Amino acid sequence: MVDTIGHRFGPEAPQVGKAVQHVDNVIGELWQRLQSEVDEPVNLILVSDHGVSQIKADAMIDYSAFNIDDQLFEVVNGATRLMIYAHENTTTQQINELKQRLQAANNGQYWLETNAQLAQLGVTETARKPAIILGTKAPAIFTSRPPERRKDGGTHGYHSNRDMDGIFIAAGPAIKAKAPLQRFSNIHIYPFMAQLLGLELLTPIDGDAKVLAPLLADKKAD
Ligand SMILES: [Zn+2]
Repeated sequence: MVDTIGHRFGPEAPQVGKAVQHVDNVIGELWQRLQSEVDEPVNLILVSDHGVSQIKADAMIDYSAFNIDDQLFEVVNGATRLMIYAHENTTTQQINELKQRLQAANNGQYWLETNAQLAQLGVTETARKPAIILGTKAPAIFTSRPPERRKDGGTHGYHSNRDMDGIFIAAGPAIKAKAPLQRFSNIHIYPFMAQLLGLELLTPIDGDAKVLAPLLADKKAD
């Protein structure tokens, strides 16, 4: 709900405030009823998977103007990124030529994502990785819509920044009310939850239980 309204109206719109208030009320009711209607101790963790940035119709990048040859490439628009896949018979030279052309046509609106930038997002060298990925930042997105059909609004998917951050709220008998925490990546929530539930991790993961360990309340002696 908050996501849909955030896309349509942008993060600062009063409609988003109302949507947040509505969800907050529903969660409040859930929390109250967990206390009064459930006999077991319950820890409640609230997360969102991302934030949202304002996008502006007049900052949008029309990628149809790039005239990318569809005999050689397939273009998939991800709004915050443009993914350009090479067909099977497309040569490295043809890919490099397109890279150079996109680089030359760029007036600071977008960039070619480097391997180092992509590695931060967990993108590795596989057959599914596009030959070229263009990135941009708010308030721009990639679009093929004609100008009269572009609207201001909101979106997510940009490189990590404060606007893109999600929320993390945790409360319950196993969780300390106050604990010092740095800004952290949400991959560390899963091992934290496994620890709360006493579940063993059966496969290696990138998340680290130590990151959220300061939140764990000291176990009471039985
Ligand atoms: Zn969304």
